[in-house]
Amino acid sequence: MGYDTVFSSRLVTGRKNYQCACCLQQIAKNERHLYQAQVCDGELLAFRMHSDCRDWEVFLNQQNGLYYDDYTPLHEHVANGGLGVLEQAPEAVRQRFVKMLKA
Ligand SMILES: [Zn+2]
Repeated sequence: MGYDTVFSSRLVTGRKNYQCACCLQQIAKNERHLYQAQVCDGELLAFRMHSDCRDWEVFLNQQNGLYYDDYTPLHEHVANGGLGVLEQAPEAVRQRFVKMLKA
């Protein structure tokens, strides 16, 4: 997921449950979240994400200088770097991973 190909990004209210592309946790029905559509290799892709997850994911990628093909989803940052990469993340974001890692 790079930045260059995003052509639609908006906050929406889900009419059903979705999966967050950043943390892979559930986005509950009626929860406000970020909807992004982008073209990747000529294919239309749509992602739904907790907006605070997305913010932190972008931050981590910027910190690591990852762009375009190297762009790494938040859950992979955590898989590679452990919960430490979330040390300064918003509490809500950290809790999603703490919950998942305990499960
Ligand atoms: Zn999330």
